[in-house]
Amino acid sequence: MRILITGGAGFLGSHLCERLLGEGHEVVCLDNLFTGRKANIAHLLSNPYFEFARHDVIDPFKFEVDQIYNLACPASPPHYQYNAIKTIKTSVMGAINCLGLAKRLRARVFQASTSEIYGDPVEHPQTEAYWGNVNPIGIRSCYDEGKRCAETLFFDYHRQNGVDIRIARIFNTYGPRMLANDGRVVSNFIVQALKGEDLTIYGDGSQTRSFCFYSDLIEGFIRLMSQDETTGPVNIGNPGEFTMLELAEAVLREVGSKSKLVHLDLPADDPKQRQPDISIAKEKLGWEPKVPLEEGLRETIAYFRKDLGV
Ligand code: NAD
Ligand code: UDP
Repeated sequence: MRILITGGAGFLGSHLCERLLGEGHEVVCLDNLFTGRKANIAHLLSNPYFEFARHDVIDPFKFEVDQIYNLACPASPPHYQYNAIKTIKTSVMGAINCLGLAKRLRARVFQASTSEIYGDPVEHPQTEAYWGNVNPIGIRSCYDEGKRCAETLFFDYHRQNGVDIRIARIFNTYGPRMLANDGRVVSNFIVQALKGEDLTIYGDGSQTRSFCFYSDLIEGFIRLMSQDETTGPVNIGNPGEFTMLELAEAVLREVGSKSKLVHLDLPADDPKQRQPDISIAKEKLGWEPKVPLEEGLRETIAYFRKDLGV
């Protein structure tokens, strides 16, 4: 197949490009390089089955493809809050442009949705049936509401125009090719531990997240796109739940670092807990994550050692 990946030069997108090329597909990678890097795809540029298009998903685009994966959107809070209006435009107009193209081409289209759909959840763990607890006017809303509106658009194009949609709700994912200055917790802690700096715990560190290694996640994407039974939304994440204090201890242990912990203010609307219920992914996709946190951290730490030269 010929497959378009928006946001293909980012952390997850570049791994997806690699995986699909490895399966013998042609890949068109569309990215405006806001948080993506040419370095993530440099090794793919000489592959005759790979094309890179520097383009913004907000502006319409046309490619003749069989499938579309829509990943374009900054994912870390500092990056998506940097230009909040642009973030919501990216989610909403990016979705409209992908769906319009999918409608014309009769192509299957995938949306990289998020656990942020659930906001600061009052149900725990989160099932796909939970509607969420999202502040519509806070500093995270540009991302959360943008992604919620994108899901709405996906379902309206599906109901109204018969577009063949798939939606994955991605929980916190980490691994090689995250940006060192990304601001997300896994990259922050690893970079701080490697540089011998204090690890920055926001709030008291009792808030929880569930961390999925990138390779498990990509496998979930492919399975969702390769079956006809469900459109989703499907939670794709690792149910292993950790407090930020536990994560910090695990990073210090794996790096062998003596860095101290410092407590900084908790950002507004920071969700207190998050854990995916993955029953649907297990049942419909036969998918569950395989890589435990320690193993994924080791691989990510090795990547950052090389990236930072430390
Ligand atoms: P990332 O920031 O590394 O990747 C996003 C990519 O989209 C980057 O290459 C960026 O340059 C590109 N992009 C941003 N705005 C664009 C625009 N207007 N036009 C074209 N390209 C644009 O983040 P990631 O972690 O790889 O996330 C990929 C997708 O998965 C995002 O949609 C994100 O919301 C979603 N997601 C990720 C996680 C996670 O934990 N990594 C969790 C939930 C959802
Ligand atoms: N966090 C932290 N220290 C950091 C960065 C993040 O304690 O240096 C916390 C943050 O407050 C949140 C959790 O780690 O509770 C996950 O943050 P991240 O930005 O990685 O993802 P998200 O909040 O979008 O799940």
